[in-house]
Formats: sequence, C-alpha cells, structure tokens
Amino acid sequence: MSEYVCSLCDRKYPVTEFRYKCDCSGVLELKKQVSFPLREIAKRKPTIWRYLEAIPIEKKENIVSFDEGMTPLIDFFYKGLNLKAKLDYIFPTGSYKDRGASVLISKLKEIGVKRIIEDSSGNAGAAIAGYSAKAKIKCEIYCPQSTSKGKLSQIQLYGAKIKKIPGTRADTSNAVLKDAEKFYYASHNWNPFFLEGTKTAAFEIAEQLDWKSPDNIICPIGFGSIYLGLYLGFKELLENKIIERLPKLLGVQSSVCSPVYKAFINKDDNIQKFIQEKQTIAEGICSEKPIRDKLILKAINQTSGAITSVSDTEIKNGIKILAKQGLFVEPTSAVVIPAVDKFYKQNIINPEQTTILILTGSGLKTTEKLVKIF
Ligand SMILES: [Zn+2]
Repeated sequence: MSEYVCSLCDRKYPVTEFRYKCDCSGVLELKKQVSFPLREIAKRKPTIWRYLEAIPIEKKENIVSFDEGMTPLIDFFYKGLNLKAKLDYIFPTGSYKDRGASVLISKLKEIGVKRIIEDSSGNAGAAIAGYSAKAKIKCEIYCPQSTSKGKLSQIQLYGAKIKKIPGTRADTSNAVLKDAEKFYYASHNWNPFFLEGTKTAAFEIAEQLDWKSPDNIICPIGFGSIYLGLYLGFKELLENKIIERLPKLLGVQSSVCSPVYKAFINKDDNIQKFIQEKQTIAEGICSEKPIRDKLILKAINQTSGAITSVSDTEIKNGIKILAKQGLFVEPTSAVVIPAVDKFYKQNIINPEQTTILILTGSGLKTTEKLVKIF
C-alpha cells in the first residue's frame, strides 16, 4: 500500500482520501514499495503498464488505459553527436502527458472519484479529459478566457466542460483552487500520481537500452512533470539495482519564462517567481513558479544536471531541423535542439556519450502556430 507524505511537515495520509495537498498546504509525495521483475516485464504488452509493480494502483481492473507507451527511441543525426530521440508525442491525445493521465485517472477511479476539475488549456487538459472520457468520470477544465477556440476543441470533443475565467493564467489557477473545496482537483501538478505515470518514460528508456542508463537526457521543463518523472523513475531503477548510475538530467526553458534556469545559474536554494512579460511559442513550459521547486533543485543536484534557456528564434530553427528528419513536433518540444548546441558548447555533453532528446508533444497540436513560421 502507498501513502501520501507531506514534503513540508512529513504528515501522512491514506491515498484513499480525496485530497491534493497537505492541510499545511504542502505538496504531497508518495511513499510506496516498487519492484522490477525483469523476466515478467519482458513477457508483457509494450505499454506503460508493463511496469505494474512500480505503479501504485492496487487492482488491475481499475486501470484506465489505451495501451499507451513504449514510444520509439530512434537515432537522431546532428553535429556528429550520439543522439537518440524518444518520440513521446506518439500518444492517444498527442503528448507524453498521457503517461500521467493514465495513472492519475486510474487512481481516481480506484478511490471512487466521480467528478473532477483541472486547470489547463493545453496538453495536460486534453490528456485528463481524454482519460476521464474513457473512465466515465465527469470532467471540467478551467481555462483563461483568452484561450483560442482551436486549443479548446480537443478538450470539448472528449466531453469535458470548459469553464472560461476572465483575466490571466494566475486568475484561472485561483478560480480552480476556490472550487477545489467542492470538487476533486485532479491537478497534474499537485497530485503525485501524475508523476507516477510520467516516470514510466525512464523505465522505457532504460529497457530500450538493455536496462542501462544513458549518459544524458535533454527535455523541456515548465512545472517539471517530465523532468521530475525521469528523476523519480531512474532513481527507483538505481535503488533497485537495475541500473548503476543516474543519467545527467538537462532541462530547457524558454528565455521569456525561466525561473528554474535563473535559480540554476545563481545557485539559489529556492526557485523565485519569474514574471512572464512576453509571449513565447513554447507555451507548454511557461510556469512562473513550479509547485515542486525543491524537488526540481534536488533532481538537478543529484543527477549533476543543468538547465539552459532558449529564444523563440532558436526554437523555430529547432522545429525545422527536427522536421527535416521526419519529426513533426510542437514548439515546446523543439527547445531540445538549441539546447543540444548550448550543452555541447559548455562541454556538458560530448560525442562519446549517449544523449536522449525527449520529444513531448505533436506538431498537430499547434498547426496555427506552425503555419506562421514559414
Ligand atoms: Zn504538511
């Protein structure tokens, strides 16, 4: 059995409780037992659920899944480096967020949640709405009033209700927190079960490399759901002696909203709020202050990781470089290409090492933005 543990005051709660945070407002983490029966795993279907003993769901019949996962890991040719691209945009709703949504919605089904609210107008909202449709859980997504119709259509087609909130993204967060007292807040940022899903990316990469850890992994970082998922996943593999070391986790932010990068270069013990004054095409990583800030800093530190930031001009170039090799991704994913240049220049990665690039979201999500690039 797993239980929630508060990251601030250490208070524990059973996971059967309908809660998303501690009474002290601290972020909850999960305490649980995991194992990796490799021979059994090898016989199972190639989905995220092949790592069943490492995902804290009690009963198999509660699993909400489209048989997602085991996304391809392919060679990527760029500047003579040893790069591999993890095609994590190949998921039922078009982004890696399905890993988290599958596990979170399964857990909510298991504890009997019938109706949820969530705030996101992007990939997480679509993933939560899609999996709620499969689980027959009523779902309402809070979005800023200014959100474009195109972005909302996927969420609405899944049958989720949209609640438009006037004002900024922060006003939307405040509105959902107020209603979180009445309905279950299935937050992909607050609820630790979401990371229990995103961590399966680490298991797949290790298995695809014959149960070895790569040297480096480069991924976008906003609230940190893929960065932290990779950290938790590789840490569990290390603790269970499946791999011998952690990969270096290298995160990429947009220069218009880069609180993690700022804390990294200033060697701060805290991530300070970063006021975003301009827009960026990398809309999926605009978090002014990540909720799990301490854990992100711990992950950077424990993996000898690093953070960089990139401009929209660099991202646009990245989109073209990826597309020339047949990889059609959204701008938020393309940040990894200019990041390769920067980390290579700083000697953080080198041609002798294996470096994985996580491609997080499909280009089909953002066609209206991509047409403006050319
Ligand atoms: Zn607490």
